[in-house]
Amino acid sequence: MDTPTTLTNLLDFGPAQLVAYCDALGEKPFRAKQLQRWIHQFGASQFDQMTDLAKSLREKLATRAVVLSPAVISDHTSTDGTRKWLLDVGQGNAVETVFIPEENRGTLCISTQAGCAVNCRFCSTGKQGFNRNLTVAEIIGQLWMAEFELRRTKGIDAGPKGERQITNVVMMGMGEPLLNFEPTVAALKIMLDDNAYGLSRRRVTLSTSGVVPMIDRLAHECPVALAVSLHASNDGLRDSLVPLNRKYPLHELMASCLRYLPSAPRDFITFEYCMLDGVNDTDQHARELIALVRHGAQPVPCKFNLIPFNPFPESGLLRSKNPRIKAFAQILMDAGIVTTVRKTRGDDIDAACGQLAGEVLDRTRVQERMQKQAQYKQKFGDNFGRLVEIPT
Ligand code: SAH
Ligand code: SF4
Repeated sequence: MDTPTTLTNLLDFGPAQLVAYCDALGEKPFRAKQLQRWIHQFGASQFDQMTDLAKSLREKLATRAVVLSPAVISDHTSTDGTRKWLLDVGQGNAVETVFIPEENRGTLCISTQAGCAVNCRFCSTGKQGFNRNLTVAEIIGQLWMAEFELRRTKGIDAGPKGERQITNVVMMGMGEPLLNFEPTVAALKIMLDDNAYGLSRRRVTLSTSGVVPMIDRLAHECPVALAVSLHASNDGLRDSLVPLNRKYPLHELMASCLRYLPSAPRDFITFEYCMLDGVNDTDQHARELIALVRHGAQPVPCKFNLIPFNPFPESGLLRSKNPRIKAFAQILMDAGIVTTVRKTRGDDIDAACGQLAGEVLDRTRVQERMQKQAQYKQKFGDNFGRLVEIPT
């Protein structure tokens, strides 16, 4: 007899795997489609709700499978409507998911790792070190939980006829998605599938600190809109802000952006640039950026998204003043580069970019995290994840 430890979590399965799972149960492929619609279009987690499945199949599933997303530890709504969930991913780890409502769309910002090994100087997720990769169920479970929870809150029907709450997904929460490649791509494929969420590739954005070989793999395996966290206009500065730059310097990063574009759903790359007072925000930095994206071997079609730094206590960094951000944006715009300044949302509930730290993190597991960090260093080079000081 099955014990609870052998129950299969169906949120772990993409379309093809669900077909294989049904096949193993002696069921036809169309059953997988039905099952997927119940799960991802109706938010169903109980098999007896799935009324068009044969009773015998429902009974079989009830003894073997579950539909389980990470448990919600806390759920806060900001005065601006931003809603943040803290989710338990076991062993004292938590990740965050943030919903940002706007007039014509609802964006969900999801996490892909508990902690992050890249250790960017200005990011509180990085400061906690790497803990572990999230599973497919933990990644797609964020969208599943948020979509149907938002509908429940608003009294909107589950099912494809009910008004879709999440129209856009950004992988900009905790973690570096391209360092958790397979589960991230599997989750992306569920987001895009017509029998699940049916999101268009243009409405799903993956943000990366610049894991060059994985940008190439993403282009082949699941191209979605790409945002690259640039944050610096030259290698010296970027080495100190985003340690991964020592492994994949700017010219390699720019070249990988160019290689990505032919398969991308949009004809530009979004460069994110965190505005740090006195560090990367002078007119000279702006001009250097223009030279980087315009006058390299080949110009990179791009837009800039300036993110006012969201301070957190240990960072020792300050947010650039608004007039400075404006002047910086103007220089880019005068050079014909579309530039936006990200509006800070959810400040009052610590849901803004880079403030996602997973409050219930178990600090006693630092040792284990450090070991994993060492393995990453072996894989990605000595300076990987090293805390480096910003040159003054
Ligand atoms: N690891 C990926 C995605 C998660 S971070 C990446 O780095 O792209 C999402 C975005 O938030 C990145 O552009 C990141 O640089 C930015 N960010 C991190 N910490 C921040 C902070 N304290 N203030 C503002 N933006 C921050
Ligand atoms: Fe990791 Fe992104 Fe934070 Fe850098 S900015 S530490 S890559 S989550």
